[in-house]
Amino acid sequence: MLTLGCHLSASNGYLHMGREAVSLGANTFQFFTRNPRGFKVKTLDLDDCAAFNSFWAENNGGRIVAHAPYTLNACSADPHIRELAEMIMSDDLERLENINGVYYNFHPGSHVKQGVEVGTDYIVELLNKLLKPGQKTIVLLETMAGKGSEVGRTFEELRAIIDRVEHSEKLGVCLDTCHVFDGGYDIVNEPDAVMEQFDKIIGLDRLHAVHLNDSKNTLGSHKDRHELIGEGNIGLDALVSFITRPEIKKLPIVLETPNDLDGYKREIAMLREAAKA
Ligand code: FE
Ligand code: FE
Ligand code: ZN
Repeated sequence: MLTLGCHLSASNGYLHMGREAVSLGANTFQFFTRNPRGFKVKTLDLDDCAAFNSFWAENNGGRIVAHAPYTLNACSADPHIRELAEMIMSDDLERLENINGVYYNFHPGSHVKQGVEVGTDYIVELLNKLLKPGQKTIVLLETMAGKGSEVGRTFEELRAIIDRVEHSEKLGVCLDTCHVFDGGYDIVNEPDAVMEQFDKIIGLDRLHAVHLNDSKNTLGSHKDRHELIGEGNIGLDALVSFITRPEIKKLPIVLETPNDLDGYKREIAMLREAAKA
């Protein structure tokens, strides 16, 4: 069975998300660690964490994904914004140690005219401060569409970060199907070649999670607008064959499509059915 789920709201806590996921036919899910605007965070409820951990284990839940606020920029030219990114990520990671089997995914950042090398330096610097040998949580760099000055639009850019991170055993990648497609990787016509490239440049052992989205835009558009599964330019067939690839089907796969809960429930059921065939 696929480890498949969707993005959920964290506002009612972990146990609530776990129950909601199960009711949607999901055995994984993703959530924002805090309000992306303003970075507000609830006080950590250790009872809720423990209740979730046992509920999730009883229900055979797979690994889940915490998403850092996407407004955070680890490679801003402004030192205050970089400091804020460090504070928030370090606080998030500390909290996540109370949750079993969770990944922490983040957008590497936007270098805004500083150039990708300078951007990479800042991201590496931050990860070298944050990643500790004893931590349970693996941090994931998300593959980006290359909108504006986003770092992480190519596999090489992600590799350049990983190469310079000391505790890179705590670092991996989350592949977003909409982002790689918008970034110019043809997962519709040449999925084998794309995944071969991923393996050669980053290594499949670094791939820990997938964001499953269709795209409103075309191959190489560098746009990043998610579409419902089967309604975009990637299409249902390509997405189904992607998630049934041997190296992908064992990973947590999370929908970030423009849906309400009913819509997610339908997409999860549809994909489970299609992936069986
Ligand atoms: Fe993301
Ligand atoms: Fe994503
Ligand atoms: Zn996106």
